[in-house]
Amino acid sequence: MPVPVTGEQLAVLNGQGPLDAALAYAALGWPVFPVAPVDLATGHCGCKKSAACEEPGKHPLVHWTERATTDARQLRDWWHWQPHANVGIATGQASGLVVVDIDPHHEGDLTREALEAAGHAFPPTLTARTRSGGWHLFYLAPEGRRVANTTGSLAGVGSTPGIDVRGDRGYIIVAPSVRPTSPDPATGAPRFGRYEWVASDDALAGAPGWAVVGRPRHQVLGPPLPSHCHDPQVSRTTLVGHRPLRRIDEESAEKHQRRYSRP
Ligand SMILES: [Zn+2]
Repeated sequence: MPVPVTGEQLAVLNGQGPLDAALAYAALGWPVFPVAPVDLATGHCGCKKSAACEEPGKHPLVHWTERATTDARQLRDWWHWQPHANVGIATGQASGLVVVDIDPHHEGDLTREALEAAGHAFPPTLTARTRSGGWHLFYLAPEGRRVANTTGSLAGVGSTPGIDVRGDRGYIIVAPSVRPTSPDPATGAPRFGRYEWVASDDALAGAPGWAVVGRPRHQVLGPPLPSHCHDPQVSRTTLVGHRPLRRIDEESAEKHQRRYSRP
């Protein structure tokens, strides 16, 4: 179901604290979870790796695939525990969101131009600037379809340097999260960038077909969800998760047949 929220409305969250933003996302039906904060004095990550962490401010603090939630009380508990935690949103069927991540540092802007020239449109939609000057384009996930997470290539499209897609079992960091950028070249002091919504009239548009068509060759299917889940969406996911098992069963059945039908 389309969420009638515009970039202009979300941009209010750019200047709010992470808990207020988390509650606002939850109210839109987007499951949220806390992500490691960064130390603004050192730039170190709040995860266990601390200074050794290669992606400060990007690591979920909880088992998000199971625990991302729209429950306000849980969100208050989490941000009471970690008041500066960054904010993550689960993508794919969990939230109904597909995010196209364009990173100009890896030529994502050039890839976008090439894709557009080839007829692959980027419909105007809710958009955020990333901490490194890239873009996150938020789209509505197609209903009842799995959307693969991809990095630098897309089935049916080919190589997409600097353009990734976040779908099922993926997540995205959102405003007002803060992450380090490159240190000051003169002093070596840490510098930071913020995720911010672009204040526009655009609301969520349907995901363009090129971003959700097909599956990458190396897609990993997640473990099946508990069988006591009766949510129809969850059931669908469970069926997909079981597909490889069924194939193995068929193979072994065939083997049995061959064995017992030998003359
Ligand atoms: Zn970390």
